[in-house]
Amino acid sequence: MTEFTSGTLTGKNLHLSFGHNHVLRGIDLHVEKGTTASVIGPSGSGKSTLLRVMNRLIEPDQGDILLDGRSVLKDNPDELRQRIGMVFQQFNLFPHKTVVENVSLALRKLRKLSKEQARAEALEQLDLVGLKHKADARPANLSGGQQQRVAIARALAMRPEVMFFDEATSALDPELVKGVLALMADLAKGGMTMVVVTHEMGFSRNVSDTVTFMDAGVVVESGPPEQVFSAPETDRLKDFLSDVL
Ligand code: ADP
Ligand code: MG
Repeated sequence: MTEFTSGTLTGKNLHLSFGHNHVLRGIDLHVEKGTTASVIGPSGSGKSTLLRVMNRLIEPDQGDILLDGRSVLKDNPDELRQRIGMVFQQFNLFPHKTVVENVSLALRKLRKLSKEQARAEALEQLDLVGLKHKADARPANLSGGQQQRVAIARALAMRPEVMFFDEATSALDPELVKGVLALMADLAKGGMTMVVVTHEMGFSRNVSDTVTFMDAGVVVESGPPEQVFSAPETDRLKDFLSDVL
């Protein structure tokens, strides 16, 4: 698997409200270059919002975001969005485009590659996720797991420094989850910097370097997986784990 040279990303004291709903209440999240941070917590605790704030799809009301130690809040937000690849629960592939076109589109538009160059790089990325042979198929002719691997290839093709995954396997049939998690584990092993919001406690425990447990807009506990899973300190985390494990 490719070696990545990726960035260290830090969110500091992040706050965000939607109207009167104070969704992020001073979140700190740090992911060291080449490591994987998983984020767990109940539905509605602010996990997706945190990812959106940390790649500046939404501007925080307060706090700072640093990439390699430098605040990025004054930069053009598009720049950060290009440095951070994002994979969602819904794959959002273009149904009328082929698999390789889905991957090469942003390469042409954002990285301004020629058609030939974009296709060549897209095929390389598809090869990396084991789907080169599906290059000219339409997304509808792929399984959900394969479509998600295409979405991952599309994000990787932009050569991001950090990858965000927001419940990337939640929409998949159970038998397809394993393949996508295996790919994510490969990326982690290859040195990609990743923030993974997940309900897959096995992945969180076995693959990630740090685990952050969020509830109601705050980080309740965080630390290495063995600490968070084997020695939870708060009732909130104990209750959560007893519900999901
Ligand atoms: P999680 O991903 O942990 O399930 P979310 O970040 O999606 O949680 O949501 C946290 C809170 O923010 C919820 O109360 C949700 O209703 C609210 N919320 C999320 N997105 C929006 C939005 N675009 N507009 C208003 N409220 C939102
Ligand atoms: Mg969410």
